[in-house]
Amino acid sequence: MKQDILGLKFDNVTMEEALAIGEGFLSGDHPAVVVTPNAEIGYDASVDDELRALLNQADLMLPDGAGVVLAAKLRKTPLKGKVAGIDFARNMLSVFARRGTKLYLLGSKPGVAEQAAEKMKEIAPGLVICGTADGYFKDEAPVIEKINASGAEALFVCLGAPKQEKFMFAHREELPAVRLMAGLGGSLDGFAGNVKRAPDWMIKCQLEWFYRLCKEPKRIGRMMRLPKYVFKAAGTRR
Ligand code: UDP
Repeated sequence: MKQDILGLKFDNVTMEEALAIGEGFLSGDHPAVVVTPNAEIGYDASVDDELRALLNQADLMLPDGAGVVLAAKLRKTPLKGKVAGIDFARNMLSVFARRGTKLYLLGSKPGVAEQAAEKMKEIAPGLVICGTADGYFKDEAPVIEKINASGAEALFVCLGAPKQEKFMFAHREELPAVRLMAGLGGSLDGFAGNVKRAPDWMIKCQLEWFYRLCKEPKRIGRMMRLPKYVFKAAGTRR
């Protein structure tokens, strides 16, 4: 079931349900797109019709963060819980390994996807990573060609939002062998270990945003969209 939160149609699912849907996409007949908006993107989408329409084309929309879950509660359209993109990705690795699904990693600075690939193979032994490319390219056509030549069936697109969503929707029809593609922001940095996640207790207390802010104070500008999003959710009727 979808839950409309300030115009974005989130799937109201647990992690287990999200994984089952993700695995279903692998046996589907078209390239399914998974998006994982957080409160910052939720706010941008609430004031940008084009971005909202783009994101709402997704086959699966997961709430990446406590801000979205809080906004959903305030709208009286609660969600079952947060399903962070990086956690969904980590769990899908075992599904790919079990099924022999070939995974391609696109995004982050040169070298990061390769480091992430090594870590992912440790997390899910037997995982097949069929290719990697950094996210700093000028022309998209050669990138699409490389992905197709690799035989990729799953694709993690980690270019930051909304660049990764624009990329996925612009090219989904040109990636006929891909069954699942997911926009996952800075997740490759996370897997590579370049960006440490908050300690478990902070994640449990919904304080991961605070940890990220302390680590990267320059995020303050973009993070101000989080309270704006929550206030908007509390105040508007939409
Ligand atoms: N990135 C990229 N190409 C670009 C811009 C950004 O590959 O042209 C990568 C960047 O290196 C980082 C990720 O996209 O790994 C964005 O991470 P961030 O944490 O800013 O995104 P979020 O998860 O907040 O969407």
